[in-house]
This record gives sequence, structure tokens and C-alpha cells, in this order.
Amino acid sequence: MKSYDVAIIGSGPGGYVAAIRCAQLGMKTAIIEKYSTLGGTCLNVGCIPSKALLSSSHHYEEATKHFEDHGIEIPGEIKVNLEKMIGRKQAVVDQTTGGIDFLMKKNNIDVFEGLGSFIDATHIKIEGKDAQDIEAKKIIIATGSKPSNLPFITLDKERVITSTEALKLKEIPKHLIIIGGGVIGLELGQVYRRLGAEVTVIEYMDRILPTMDAGLSKELNKVFKKAKCKMMLSHKVQSVERNGEEVVVKAENKKGEVVEFKGDYCLVSVGRKPYTAGLNLEAAGVKMNDRGQIDVNDHLQTSTSNIYAIGDVIKGAMLAHKAEEEGTFVAETLAGQKPHIDYNLIPGVVYTWPEVAAVGKTEEELKADNVAYKVGQFPFRALGRARASGDIDGFVKILADKTTDEVLGVHMIGARCADLIAEAVTAMEFRASAEDISRMSHAHPTFAEAVKEAALAATDDRALHV
Ligand code: FAD
Ligand code: NAD
Repeated sequence: MKSYDVAIIGSGPGGYVAAIRCAQLGMKTAIIEKYSTLGGTCLNVGCIPSKALLSSSHHYEEATKHFEDHGIEIPGEIKVNLEKMIGRKQAVVDQTTGGIDFLMKKNNIDVFEGLGSFIDATHIKIEGKDAQDIEAKKIIIATGSKPSNLPFITLDKERVITSTEALKLKEIPKHLIIIGGGVIGLELGQVYRRLGAEVTVIEYMDRILPTMDAGLSKELNKVFKKAKCKMMLSHKVQSVERNGEEVVVKAENKKGEVVEFKGDYCLVSVGRKPYTAGLNLEAAGVKMNDRGQIDVNDHLQTSTSNIYAIGDVIKGAMLAHKAEEEGTFVAETLAGQKPHIDYNLIPGVVYTWPEVAAVGKTEEELKADNVAYKVGQFPFRALGRARASGDIDGFVKILADKTTDEVLGVHMIGARCADLIAEAVTAMEFRASAEDISRMSHAHPTFAEAVKEAALAATDDRALHV
């Protein structure tokens, strides 16, 4: 029987990063993945394929709607070849998952293809292509998550679908009905809207992206409405029926009236749930909490002391970079180091266009915590760079402590915000004040100048260009 210092179950961004860091720190490491490709949800059916389709559909929209503004004329009709677009997405996925194979080899990590389940706290049974039992002193569970569903919905995966199927449709829907105005619903909704589908978003709460700062929800909602998406907020879905090629969704509005929507596809994107099926956790004494997550302490250690858990399968934001930080954290803990994660400073990004990005506290959270704060906000339309490229929607908002000026939260919507948020994370990691940011030179002309201007506005209401 093969024996390891560490065995990791699951090869998503949590698991494969943990494996690399364990190997870098000198541990003999194995990783077990039930699918034939590494990379988990993120690389195969999540972050990477969705961003590939967002990029392709963005190019299409630019070509059909905005090239003309720049004096670029394309004779003839510009058409979408969906098969080719989906094919390109798959090529990007294959290249990326292949990169993980390379990294495993480079770091001398043994990869086992098969379903991993606990025999006891130090032994794992692998069933599948590489079937065998292995032994490990420490085990990291990184089995991720699966899409959630509503109890009354049958996901036929043809017309009533999850994000996984939405990433490989064979036709552009005529009318895509989306249940859930969260990250997946909005990102994939925008992809198909750009490609020509009618899109209706049905959201239970009174705003889209309900966990983000309300200012961002409001602004993105405007963008979707401008693109002629139907945004049905405060609607409670009651039923989803499929009749042949038609899908009928009924939802109750705030007045108690039942509203009916008819489309040809329905994407159910109401969140994701931790995935532990088949792990046989009981055999190792690993306990779950009442939310179906694996229970961990501050060291990400489960109820069995040599077994750790990371990523979507435990509490916290279901984000690839959160899982990665936890992978590194556990590897370094196992090596006797004292790593640290500040969960308040894990940024959240929505890759629509304009992009939405945030870190730290929202205004709603600061109010609830009775924190006295000040706000500095700056619109992209006031920036020369934004006007030059024609991306003028959105703003940067900085929330700073009223007394100390420490930055408490940064919320932005606009072009390139997914990248701009890194400056805010860096500043907050070093506990910068708004004035600190405002006194740093930002290259001109850039979108990043909006961060400086928002900081100036927060410091002393002294933004320069409004
Ligand atoms: P996963 O990536 O889910 O990996 C778990 C792996 O474990 C899987 O490969 C699974 O097959 C394997 N596994 C499970 N059980 C077993 C077992 N018993 N034996 C062997 N293997 C097993 N996050 C972002 O930060 N940015 C984004 O842009 C983003 N976009 C997304 C878009 C979509 C459409 C979706 C669905 C998700 C997106 N996410 C994004 C979320 C991100 O994918 C997850 O947060 C991330 O993948 C979690 O990583 P993980 O390592 O915990 O688990
Ligand atoms: P989500 O939690 O982001 O959004 C779910 C939405 O569905 C919420 O707005 C919620 O109020 C709504 N909802 C719940 N029940 C409903 C009902 N009965 N009727 C109508 N609406 C209902 O979940 P998601 O969009 O499915 O994404 C799942 C996870 O994947 C998220 O945790 C997210 O972090 C991650 N993800 C991240 C990215 C990114 O970082 N860019 C992209 C995609 C997915």
C-alpha cells in the first residue's frame, strides 16, 4: 500500500493548490480526483469556461454595437457561430486543466483518478481507474460543491438547467428564464443576452446581488434593464414546468399575484451546496454542521485532528481564491508554520460588463454594526481614460472610518474593476487610510485614477475631476 505524508481528496483550486504547497514544503503528497481532468468546478465548469464565454460574447457585442462608434465598419452581417464559441471555451478549459497535470508532475505529486472515500482516519479507498487503498498521515478534504436546487424543480438538464449545461448549449435560447439574480445568473444571463436571447431574471430578494453593497446592485440592475433584460425582483418562484420545448415558470410577486413566464430554457442559479457524497465521513469521525458543510475550527481542522477541510465544502464564500488561500493555509499549518487568512479581505468579483468588485464591509454592514463612516465616490464618466475607450458606466466607492480615515470597504462597478480591486485589497491589508491612497501617484490616463479620486473624495471631499 502506498503511504503519504498528505493525501488530498478533490483537485479544484483548493485541492491542487494545497497539493503544490505541501510538495513545496517537502511533504510526500497524493491527490485524488474522481473525474479524468484536474481543476475541479473552477477550471472545468466554473470560473474559466464562464469567463471564456463572457469574453467571446463581449467581443461580439463590441463588434455589433460599439465598433461603429470607433469608426470601424464591417461590411456584411456579423454572426455568432455558437458551436465554435463553445469549442473555443472547451479548448481554453483543456489547456488550463492540462496545465494542472503539468504542475502535479513538476512537483512530484501522485495523482489518482477515482472516487476517494474514508476507510478510517488514515486510509482512503480509491474506486475507479486507479482503484487501490492508500495511507496518509494527514488528509485534506477539498471536495467542493454542486448546484443547489429548489425542492419543487426537476432539473432535466436539457431545458431546465444548471450552470454546467448553460456552458455548453447547442443553440442560443430564444428566451432564457433565470431563477436567481446572483453571480451565476447575471454572468451567464449577460452571455446569452449579448448573443441575442431574451433574458428574464427572477430574483427572490428585492435586489440582485443581495450580499453585495446595495449601490452596486442598483447600478448593475440599471445596466441589465438598459440591455432590455426583464428584472423581476421580489418574485418567489412557485413552479417550473416543461412542456416539450417550452418551459413555464410561475412566481408570486410582492402583491401576492402569480406571474407566468414562458421561455425555452430555464437556468436555475439559486446557489451551490457543499459536496460530500460518497466520502464515508463517518468512518473517519468527521462531523458536518447543520448547513451540510464540513465543520472546521480556526485551523481548518475537522473533528478528527489529522483531517482538514478547505474550499466550498466548508463555511464561507464559495470562491476559487478563497479555496486557494485555504489550501496554502493548511499546507503551511501542516509544516508547522503559523499562516493567517483575513476573510474580510477576500474580494468578490462579478465578471459582467461593467465588472463589479468589492472588498471589506458594505454600507449596510457598517450601519448594522453602528460604525461611523464616510463615503467617497467617483464616477468613471469623469475620467479621460473611460471616455477614450467608451466605458463610462459605473463608479468607485470608498468607505472609510469617520475618525481614523482607515479604509473599511471598497465597492466598484465599471470597466476593469476585477483588476482594480487588487489595489484596494493591498491598501486594506496594510491598513491604509483613504488619504494614503489619495496621496499615491496613479498613472494617467488609467481607470485606476477613479480609485485615487474616490479616496480624495473620502478624505476631505476633494476629488479633483468632478
Ligand atoms: P471544486 O472546484 O468544486 O473541486 C472539488 C473537486 O473534488 C471536484 O473536481 C470533484 O470532482 C472532486 N471530488 C468531490 N468528491 C470527491 C471524491 N469523493 N473523490 C475524489 N474527488 C472528489 N469562483 C471565483 O472565485 N471566480 C469565478 O469567476 C467563479 N466563477 C464560477 C462560475 C461558475 C459557473 C461556477 C459554478 C462557479 C464559479 N466560481 C467562481 C466558484 C468556484 O468554482 C468555486 O468556489 C471553486 O471551484 C471551489 O473550489 P474547491 O477546490 O473548494 O472545489
Ligand atoms: P448566489 O448565491 O450568488 O445567488 C443566488 C441568488 O438566487 C441569490 O440572489 C438569491 O437571493 C437567489 N435565490 C435563492 N432562492 C431563490 C428563489 N427561490 N427564487 C428566486 N431567487 C432565489 O449563487 P449562484 O449565482 O448560484 O452562484 C453559486 C456560487 O458560485 C456563489 O457562491 C458564487 O460565489 C460562486 N460563483 C462565483 C462567481 C464569481 O466569483 N464571479 C461566479 C459564479 C459563481
